[in-house]
Amino acid sequence: MQKNEDFLINLKKIIPSERLLLDEPLANHTTFRIGGPADYFVLPASIGEITEVLKLTKQYEIPVTVLGNGSNVLVLDSGIRGLVIKFGRNMAYIRHDGHRIFAGAGALLSDVSRYAAKHGLTGMEFAIGIPGSIGGSVFMNAGAYEGEMSNIVLSVTAVCQDGSVKRFEKRELEFSYRHSVFHENHCTICEVELQFQNGEHGLIRSKMGDFTTKRETKQPLEVPSAGSTFKRPPGYFAGTLIEQTGLKGLTVGGAQVSPKHAGFIINAGGATAQDVLSLIKEVQRRVYEKHGVMLYPEVRTLGEK
Ligand SMILES: Cc1cc2nc3c(=O)[nH]c(=O)nc-3n(C[C@H](O)[C@H](O)[C@H](O)COP(=O)(O)OP(=O)(O)OC[C@H]3O[C@@H](n4cnc5c(N)ncnc54)[C@H](O)[C@@H]3O)c2cc1C
Repeated sequence: MQKNEDFLINLKKIIPSERLLLDEPLANHTTFRIGGPADYFVLPASIGEITEVLKLTKQYEIPVTVLGNGSNVLVLDSGIRGLVIKFGRNMAYIRHDGHRIFAGAGALLSDVSRYAAKHGLTGMEFAIGIPGSIGGSVFMNAGAYEGEMSNIVLSVTAVCQDGSVKRFEKRELEFSYRHSVFHENHCTICEVELQFQNGEHGLIRSKMGDFTTKRETKQPLEVPSAGSTFKRPPGYFAGTLIEQTGLKGLTVGGAQVSPKHAGFIINAGGATAQDVLSLIKEVQRRVYEKHGVMLYPEVRTLGEK
């Protein structure tokens, strides 16, 4: 894709070359291992850099997409036009002050959970096996085993589209099932403040161990996926409905309904985003036909149609 040279010259003044990539294949940055290239791909290392990048993209009218660990997204085959901000290890600091932990948006949930356990802080055991970043997990209000991010988030520092830095208190975050205010306000989550309680190290560790065993037994963790494909329809479990419809193993191209857990669509080898989208449609159609229940994707589709 042709680049805006003027924009690129200015972008290079903000982000050093080792953290600024052009036409970066996003399949390298999603747990599905699917996705075409991003025109501009940056790995920011500070809130200051994000502020400057967002001001610049606004000035040049370059669209911006934010990516965490890429574990809840389906990036389309033609990729993402404009600039992708990827939160990774350059923004993955974790520190604590008493019962509060502060984490950069790129910190992995598993690392923050382990950090909390190490310091005898309880409240985040549920998150040990969720392969997301802190930023993506607040955006999604990720949850498991009766826990979810909304239970422990105290505040969020984010940069909004005009480049202003804002602090959001918990009451402003509009958390609900797999939803936060960031779906609507399009601000970029940079740092999250989490609240914990004192716990007993051994108990925290054993709870985390139990959750890990449950996941390893039930979920197809050995193959690429984006976790549960569909949201939980009220009163049902998506995986159970799909299994009862006889769709385990249903395949389109390289995409397959996991034979191990019907709630997961997996990349069984060489799947394209189009394969996954076609399979999602087919699953929706057949489940609706059999059960009269409409399934809606939890996985977020990003990129150029
Ligand atoms: C094997 C497996 C198991 C899973 N289990 C669970 C589970 O038990 N519970 C659960 O809830 N989820 C689960 N997931 C899904 C996924 O891990 C979570 O939704 C996670 O919170 C996504 O985080 P991420 O950093 O990967 O976000 P991404 O996938 O990178 O992004 C998700 C969305 O958040 C936005 N976003 C990301 N970072 C930011 C940011 N810093 N600022 C603003 N917006 C941002 C993106 O634009 C995108 O719309 C699972 C996934 C896999 C592959």
